[in-house]
Amino acid sequence: MAITPPTDVPGETVRVRFPPSPTGYLHIGGARTAILNWLYARKHGGKLVLRIEDTDAERSTEASIQGILDGLTWLGLDWDEGPYFQTAFKADHERAAQQLVDSGKAYKCFCTKETLAAKRAQAMADKKADVGYDGTCRHLSAAEVEAYEKAGLPAVIRFKVPDRDGKVGYDDRVLGRIERAYAEIEDFVIVRSNGEPLYLLSNVVDDIRDRISHVIRGQDHMTNTIRQVLLYEALGARPPVFAHMPLTLDLKKRKISKRHHGEIVSVQFYRERGFLPWALCNFLVLLGWNPGTNQEIFSREELIEAFTLERIGRANAVFNHRPGDPKFFTDPKLIAINAAYLRSTDIGTIGDLVRRELEAEGLWHADYAGLRREWYLTTLDMIRDRFHTLKDFTTLGRAYFDDTYPIEEKPLRKHLLSHPELKTWLPALAERFSALDDFTAGTTEAATRELAEALAVKAGILINAMRTVLTGQLAGPGMFDVLVSLGKATVVRRLRRVGPLFPE
Ligand code: GLU
Repeated sequence: MAITPPTDVPGETVRVRFPPSPTGYLHIGGARTAILNWLYARKHGGKLVLRIEDTDAERSTEASIQGILDGLTWLGLDWDEGPYFQTAFKADHERAAQQLVDSGKAYKCFCTKETLAAKRAQAMADKKADVGYDGTCRHLSAAEVEAYEKAGLPAVIRFKVPDRDGKVGYDDRVLGRIERAYAEIEDFVIVRSNGEPLYLLSNVVDDIRDRISHVIRGQDHMTNTIRQVLLYEALGARPPVFAHMPLTLDLKKRKISKRHHGEIVSVQFYRERGFLPWALCNFLVLLGWNPGTNQEIFSREELIEAFTLERIGRANAVFNHRPGDPKFFTDPKLIAINAAYLRSTDIGTIGDLVRRELEAEGLWHADYAGLRREWYLTTLDMIRDRFHTLKDFTTLGRAYFDDTYPIEEKPLRKHLLSHPELKTWLPALAERFSALDDFTAGTTEAATRELAEALAVKAGILINAMRTVLTGQLAGPGMFDVLVSLGKATVVRRLRRVGPLFPE
């Protein structure tokens, strides 16, 4: 195998990779890994390689591969090479294993599972510090190996950990020097007895072939890293730079997972719940990376500029989720970041995104892209201030697009039913509005105040009642702007029909 050692020398190409195992949907932890690698590649003018690690034939699925590709695309994370499929390179993995055996750096091990289990149990019973493989087959002669093979005994291939004093290690760009004594590392399996190379080996062989310069992955992979460093050395390659990211835990310090947290760990959930892709990226980056300032909202360009491996956190990141609280259906910081993007993204882009939501709900009118485009965008701009997700436009904001919308319980009781006279006051207001030639914030406000005066009630009573009836909501944008947006005909029609809202 041709080996080109990767490098961390400034000026040389940065090549990073995202190598998901396609055994489920794109998890937000996986997405975070992808984003950090993407940022690093973009920052250094490097390449991001997408490699699907599909060697687990039983658990890998087509649907999962598609889900991962769709998820990355939706997030706006483009890759430069791939997708490569790990299974396509099986011959490379086998050849590397053979090379290690041929050069005496790995050996066949014929110990049966039962023997290994019994030895381990005994070592544990004897309270031995080292309960790992005892190296029985490491010392087999060539003749013994041949005899066992002839007898058809199944064998795994084990890596022969160099018999050296001292420690092997690497300089983690996040965690500093990580080391382990050679003596503490057991001869580990690199090929199963059925001939399948193990992930540990395949992953290294692929990273060498793909000339990966930096491996940025979760701390959960650290148990492999030391052994992989040994494999690099044995294969004659320089190890890449490693940077291990913290785990993401919930408030109870559990790793976030589908089993404990359900759909909120999947990228798809956020797509379906009306999140903006970059808002999710922004949030995920902050989950594990610290800008060193209070800034929380970063454009793509800002983040590419600010990102460094050294600022990846060492301590576990916390995903603040409070199950059962609808306001906290996911981490509130993510909701707040999404709301900030909803407010700041240019209104034309918001218009396109909301269009999809309206279409899905059957609320879209072709006019919104034509004659009424200005109305459409002005209205979205007016209502977006209070919204958290794109879904809010068709739920909380439904009254702007259709005559059928629910009236929330709280404003109904507080602002409508508390004054039964509104049953006639609101239709009276409708008549005053109907008589206006010019239907503006100014004229409607004047008409409202005149009626309030004539009735000797506070204008606020009429205004709150109007908001309730016209939008179904307790709060919202300035009421007279709302009237203008809804338009005279709609306002008059809705105010005239309030009767049935009141009890007989
Ligand atoms: N396929 C591994 C995973 O999905 C990636 C391992 C790595 O980054 O080296 O966890």
